Order: sequence, then C-alpha cells, then structure tokens
Amino acid sequence: MTLLFDAAQRETPTTPRFRAYTSKHLDELLVRAGFDLEARLALRAVATVLPFRTNAYVIERLIDWTAVPDDPIYRLVFPQQDMLPADDVAHIAGLLRNQASRAEVESAAHRVRAKLNPHPAGQLQLNVPKLADEPLPGVQHKYPETALFFPKQGQTCHAYCTYCFRWAQFVGEPDLKMASDDVERFVAYLRAHPEITSVLITGGDAMIMTESVLARYVEPLIEVEQLESIRIGTKSLSYWPQRFVTDSDADDTLRLFERVVAAGKNLAFQAHFTHPREMEPDLVETAVRRILDSGAVIRTQAPLIRSINDDAQTWATMWRRQHAMGMVPYYMFVERDTGPQDYFAVPLARAYEIYREALASVSGLCRTVRGPSMSATPGKVCVDGVAEIAGRKVFVLHFIQARDPALVGRPFFAEYDPAATWLSDLRPAFADRFPHESS
Ligand SMILES: *Cc1c(COP(=O)(O)O)cnc(C)c1O
Repeated sequence: MTLLFDAAQRETPTTPRFRAYTSKHLDELLVRAGFDLEARLALRAVATVLPFRTNAYVIERLIDWTAVPDDPIYRLVFPQQDMLPADDVAHIAGLLRNQASRAEVESAAHRVRAKLNPHPAGQLQLNVPKLADEPLPGVQHKYPETALFFPKQGQTCHAYCTYCFRWAQFVGEPDLKMASDDVERFVAYLRAHPEITSVLITGGDAMIMTESVLARYVEPLIEVEQLESIRIGTKSLSYWPQRFVTDSDADDTLRLFERVVAAGKNLAFQAHFTHPREMEPDLVETAVRRILDSGAVIRTQAPLIRSINDDAQTWATMWRRQHAMGMVPYYMFVERDTGPQDYFAVPLARAYEIYREALASVSGLCRTVRGPSMSATPGKVCVDGVAEIAGRKVFVLHFIQARDPALVGRPFFAEYDPAATWLSDLRPAFADRFPHESS
C-alpha cells in the first residue's frame, strides 16, 4: 500500500501541516491493519453511518499497529463492526460490495442513524436560550453560572472519537447542526444575564479554529467584566498537539490566552484525554508546558469507555501523568445514552469501582477529579458509592450540577442495580421519586 504519511517526513523538524483522513482513506488504513475484504466492507459500512475522521499524527504516533484491533487508540478512532446491529452492517456492506450509488448508500445509512436513539440534538435544542424573545442558536445555558457557545467554525475535530455523543452533527444530518457566528448577540445575552460567570467555547473542538477566528470569539468576551473564566473544550492536545507548538499560529494562540489571563480571567483549558498513551509523545509535554506558560490552567476530563479505558490502572496512570505535567484532573464521565452506547457502556456499579480504586492509588493532589458523573437532562449526577442502608443495598448519588440549583450537593438514593448504565435505568430508594422529578 502507499504510505499515507511518509516516515522520513516524521523525522524532519518541519512538521507536516494538518490533513484529515476520512472514510475515503478508510479502506487503505484497514488494509494496513491487516483486515480481509469482508471485514473491510463491514467496517466501511459502519463508517457510512457513524462519522470517521483521523489524521497522520494519530495514525503514526498514537496507534500501536502491532496491537490492532485491541489497541485502545485504534478503538478510540476506528469503527468497530459490532457498534451497529449485524443485519444493518450486512445490508450496507452488501451495497458497498455491489458498488451501489452514493445516494443509495446514504439513504440506507440515514435509516440506521434514525434508529440510534435518542438523538443528541434533542439535548442541545432543549436548552436554546432566547434574547429579546428570539432564539439564540449555538448557545446553551443550562446551569445558571455557565453558558456554552458553539462557534460555527469550531464544529469539527482533528479526529473523531468513536464514542462521541455529538456524533450526529458530524455526519451531515441537516437538522442536527447548531452553531453561531454571532458573538455580538452572545455578548448581549451575557450582559442580560449577570449570573453567568463562565463561558465554555466548545463544539466540535474549539481548537480546530485558527487563531484569527478564535480571537474573533474570545476578544469580545475579554471585555465582559462579569466573566471570571473562559473555558475552551478540546481534544487537540491528544489529536494534534502541533496546534500549540509548530503550527504557524501556535505562538499567536498562546498570546491570545495570555491576553485573557492579563484581563484577570481564568483561561481554563478543558482537555479531553481518554488514555495515558495520548500523553506519551514529547510533543504533548511541550504543548502542555507552553499552554501553562501562558497562564492558562489545564483541566482534564474523559468518559469511561468499555474496551478503551475501563480499568482502574489506566485511570490512575492517566491522572498521575496529568498531575506530573501540571494538569488538574477534573471529571470522569459516564458514557452518554446516545449513538452506539450499548457498545461502550460500563455499568454504574463497575464505573464507581474503577473510579474508587483509581482514586485510592493516587496522591491527594490528583483527587481533584470527580465522578463517575452522568450529564443527564436534569443535571450532572455523580455516583458516590454503593451502601447498605436499613438492610437495603443502594446507590448513593448527588447532583454536581442541576437545572435547579437547590438540588446541588444533596445526597439521594437509588435501588442498587448491577446492570444499570444510566440515570434512566435507576429507581428511587426510600422515596417514590427522585429529587429532580416533579410530584
Ligand atoms: C458540564 C456542563 C457545564 C459545566 O459544568 P461544570 O460543573 O461547571 O464544569 C455547563 N453546561 C453544561 C450543559 C454542561 O453539561
């Protein structure tokens, strides 16, 4: 096969420019992984339904090709056959084998997507706020003190994670995109809502934007006095650390971060790391150092994903390494109930055990991480543990965040269920309804 990324090029000091690999390149990559024709057709079939995108850095530096298909980074970005029902995969694989028209393949893929329930867009559209009675698309304001902003140019990533809960917005389903390029209206909204002290720029990945585009969003926010922090949600430190080191706008980006800090605000860099492997390259260490030198704080978060990071050792290693590099472990999430959730889900009882065991083995300085946490409709629900109370085995839970701030930090209980993977699987214990359920 032709090499997608020239190995000699890797050794030269001039890093290649970012280039995405998409489903067009998938067959070639799967040949490299050693799959036969049938397996490749099945995997390509999955990639017609779920988004696939990666890049040379992930392919050449992060994946251990000798360990494919079990390699965690391979599983992080490449489709897996059993992510979708077998007959759907067989049907689309058959269309691909017979070189069916693009329209035919796309319409079959669309039908499979429609069955993947519930659609994440529901979550987004539920929370679209209003300014002067007009909806403000691309903004989400669910918790009083924090507003999320989805910039129009930030709606992709340097690579896609197979478990992404926002997957539907990356496959071109027309109704599922929501983003804004109207930072003036967003600022007007902030001024009308002085309770908002933190803005989270997310997507997609905010760092997919060049510095000049990012600055158009960040600069006006620096002027908003009430803001204490500007957060940037990103997986760029994992998928493209060059963004902060060798990209042509790396220095300008760090200067933009410095301007936020100089204005007396916290530039909170919310880094998504799934596996310790992502922190191994020297380039990541350099990128982290440069971001910290700008005065920004890096907090880390990731979901717990079956077959990728579902053991305590992996998390403990990850938190230790992050801590040693100067990053602050922040959240361990439970995989959301969207897309191929059945494939990736870890039961809550098991998630809690992994969290507890990992936490017990790291220094107190790493124990800033909270979880396992479910970002559910009423709020972020943390599984604090399993206890036996009055002869009943129960989950002890609390809201880290809630639509109704009165619920934050108050313990509540659910019947223990070793198979439950999400809040909706739980039944209240010692009460006939949960605190967030109205009477
Ligand atoms: C997680 C989240 C936030 C931020 O919550 P913190 O606990 O402050 O990190 C804000 N809005 C939404 C919709 C969220 O899911």
